[in-house]
Amino acid sequence: MRDVIVVGAGIAGLSAAIYCSRQNLDTLVIGKNLGGQALLASEIQNYPGVPSTSGFDLVRKIEAQARSFGAEITFDEVVALRKEGEGCVLKTSSDKEHSSLAVILAFGKTPRDLRVPGEDRLKGKGISYCTICDGPLFKGRTTVLVGIGEHGVESAEMLCKIARKLYWVFPSKTPGGDPSLFKSVVSRSNVEVFPNSKVLEVRGDKSFESLLIEFNGEEREIKADGLFVEMGYVTKTEFLRGVVELNERGEIKIDRACRTSAKGIFAAGDVTDMPYKQAIIAASMGVIAALSAYNYIARLKGKGEMRADWRHLKVEEEEEKGPLFFAPV
Ligand SMILES: Cc1cc2nc3c(=O)[nH]c(=O)nc-3n(C[C@H](O)[C@H](O)[C@H](O)COP(=O)(O)OP(=O)(O)OC[C@H]3O[C@@H](n4cnc5c(N)ncnc54)[C@H](O)[C@@H]3O)c2cc1C
Repeated sequence: MRDVIVVGAGIAGLSAAIYCSRQNLDTLVIGKNLGGQALLASEIQNYPGVPSTSGFDLVRKIEAQARSFGAEITFDEVVALRKEGEGCVLKTSSDKEHSSLAVILAFGKTPRDLRVPGEDRLKGKGISYCTICDGPLFKGRTTVLVGIGEHGVESAEMLCKIARKLYWVFPSKTPGGDPSLFKSVVSRSNVEVFPNSKVLEVRGDKSFESLLIEFNGEEREIKADGLFVEMGYVTKTEFLRGVVELNERGEIKIDRACRTSAKGIFAAGDVTDMPYKQAIIAASMGVIAALSAYNYIARLKGKGEMRADWRHLKVEEEEEKGPLFFAPV
């Protein structure tokens, strides 16, 4: 049994791993990928002490710091979590089970799916959920975008400059986001829009070939080389229902010590009900969750207060009262 397992290898999870492993906790990070949303930020200018960096460089530095203190990182997806005795058991999509005394949930937000037939089968085969990352691969080719909001409009702007042709599908009259940017994109001759449309199916044999939509009351098949989905981000916490308390948006409710409603389970970063979602906030929440996990484990092991490089919080007194959740903002 590990001391602590961190779910998610984004900024929150890796920051938590630095603090856990530096306190000699046996720490495993399980992440679907390394970096999370920060990889989509080509430039971050507001991380204190770092005037300008790419999200990629920032994440690689945090990862190196975590590994240097002994944190282990493995790539997998956590699909289930249950409390067992004093500890927790996590199950992954590769059918492995891991157990630990404490868990830090730091798995951020994930791009919203279309939830139509064909999507799951063709994921990663011509369907992208990150235009900034994959747009350049479609230079001079035909693309179809299902996109709304700021991300949707910015993606359309990028694709119409890269691709030979862009078909842009959205479910309402306008896609939302910046109206002037929207106007400038639709004024281009290589852009065709399908407002008030419903996506019915993603088609393709071995890779994406076409998108079936309902437009003006009729079915329409749009053939393209690549499909981009930019429908915003969601917290995928369904597997935690009944384990920890969630809010109406599915975010994990935490108190000011990053404790969830379940003992020994902590949470940090964008996956929580913290209303501000930023890199430095994710990092600092990862640290708070790590300190709380450390204190929890120290008490479980009956070691009381171990040597620590921070002022000890009297969180155990609060534990009696149960977590004090933030009031909604
Ligand atoms: C385009 C863009 C630009 C941004 N620019 C800035 C900026 O300039 N400044 C700033 O401060 N912030 C910026 N942000 C916000 C910032 O990137 C996020 O707030 C921060 O990265 C959140 O970190 P996180 O670790 O909480 O979550 P995430 O970055 O979402 O990381 C979570 C990780 O967990 C993984 N995961 C998900 N589910 C599971 C699972 N079940 N099992 C295992 N792993 C899982 C994910 O794959 C991911 O790697 C930007 C975000 C985006 C998208």
